[in-house]
Amino acid sequence: MPSPKIHHVGIAVQSIDDALSLYDDALGVSPTLRTEVPSEGVIVAMLPVGDSRIELLEATGADSPITRFLARRGPGLHHIAVQVENLEASVERLRAAGRRLVADEIRLGADGYRYVFVHPASAGGVLLELIQEP
Ligand code: ZN
Repeated sequence: MPSPKIHHVGIAVQSIDDALSLYDDALGVSPTLRTEVPSEGVIVAMLPVGDSRIELLEATGADSPITRFLARRGPGLHHIAVQVENLEASVERLRAAGRRLVADEIRLGADGYRYVFVHPASAGGVLLELIQEP
């Protein structure tokens, strides 16, 4: 079985447009995807970085988790996403170990990826996303 790999790093930003300008200056990269994910209250933009990606997250409203994150901690690193081969098996292992997930169900992203978030309280202070390719 291939080892898990970093799929993307999620960064909370005030403005995706400002952040895209920064990453264009710094890395010369443009987003491969830019879309709203209403279920998460965010607009996301994906920047290709080698085999991995940087995911920029902008809030869409006052009740967005990103709005709360920015108010509490300011812009910056929000989560790390690790790609796994079998998301159900990973979730089963986490549940059996008593680890807390942010939501009970595996969710489907706009790009066809399935994912769960492990709560920072159960993951050493890091919001850990586990993600499986379509
Ligand atoms: Zn993510």
